[in-house]
Amino acid sequence: MLHPHFWDINEVLRDYPFRSVLLSNGTLINKDNARKLRVHEVQLSVDGMRKGHESLRGEGTFEKVIRAIDRLQEAHLQVSIATMIHRDNLAEFDELASLLQSKQIGEWNVDVPCLAGRLEEHQDLWVSPKEAGLLLRYAFGGGLHSTEHQQTCGAHLCAIFPDGKVAKCGLFSEEPVGSIDERLRACWERVPRIPLQQLRCSCSVMEECRGGCRYRAKLQGDPFASDLFQCCVRGVFREELGEGESKKYPDLLQAMSEQTSLAGL
Ligand code: SF4
Ligand code: SF4
Repeated sequence: MLHPHFWDINEVLRDYPFRSVLLSNGTLINKDNARKLRVHEVQLSVDGMRKGHESLRGEGTFEKVIRAIDRLQEAHLQVSIATMIHRDNLAEFDELASLLQSKQIGEWNVDVPCLAGRLEEHQDLWVSPKEAGLLLRYAFGGGLHSTEHQQTCGAHLCAIFPDGKVAKCGLFSEEPVGSIDERLRACWERVPRIPLQQLRCSCSVMEECRGGCRYRAKLQGDPFASDLFQCCVRGVFREELGEGESKKYPDLLQAMSEQTSLAGL
């Protein structure tokens, strides 16, 4: 919302036949500007209750983002929530789930941060699959990242960054497919779409999981491989992992085994 042309862009959004979602931390949203937004949905980052959220985003930000939910809903805008699991919010998910339920939120994306970007400098906040895996199950809705027509995640999605770069989604900022100057459709058509049958997944929950997150798979070494966090959450373990992967991720395999007993899977 700080972009010099934000409000110009906002004004023309409804002239285009795509669904627009504003990703925001909510700090700048107030009663007046909420009513002016022409997006279809606002996705707010809420990374825990007050302690967890503010340990990541700074003092005073929790109250602002909760107030933003109210202001947007008063303006009849759809609000979804995105939460990253981190060291300081592990114990806050029940409370956060109740809060979001009381606000009648229809979609909650819960994700595990990858050891990339600024998290590389704050590795103390990262949590292992063993700690984070079960919390992924708090998520519901999930339209933004959904799949369709035998495609992997984010079949319809692309993200536009403040500098005009366009990429598959917010996590692929380092691999833009073009710039908005080249027209959005041209960029969107360049976003790589991976058909499900090209994945090296062959588990019994394929239809439900659809390979999980391609960014996580890429960080684990292969964009066509299984998303091991989803394997972990869904109880798909060693049989899915080839020998190479087993050698590559001994810690993850150990965590998966431990989690299986934790989850009673
Ligand atoms: S790569 Fe991950 S974050 Fe990006 S669209 Fe797919 S599931 Fe969503
Ligand atoms: S559970 Fe694992 S193997 Fe199965 S579809 Fe999901 S990522 Fe692939």
